[in-house]
Amino acid sequence: MAVTVTDATARSGKRRGNEALLGHRGEEGSSTAWSDERVAFACECDRSGCSETVWMVESHFRRVAQADGVTLVALGHAGPGDHVIASTANYLLVSRD
Ligand SMILES: [Zn+2]
Repeated sequence: MAVTVTDATARSGKRRGNEALLGHRGEEGSSTAWSDERVAFACECDRSGCSETVWMVESHFRRVAQADGVTLVALGHAGPGDHVIASTANYLLVSRD
């Protein structure tokens, strides 16, 4: 069965997956809200089939998730319409117009 997934859908789907990952962790230890532990998040770029893993400190990701329109991607995975707003040794944070 062929399923057509648009770029935007793929991106938001990955974000939901990453947030769900944190949701599960939150349930395990609700008293410790934001940990400084590194978690393997899914790259949220638009490349279809991208399965890159991005290691990021949980508390940093939660701040990214709260910022409107900011996307976490692996190094080199910024799309043509993306503006890199932060660059680290492990990942890029990008925003779109
Ligand atoms: Zn990617």
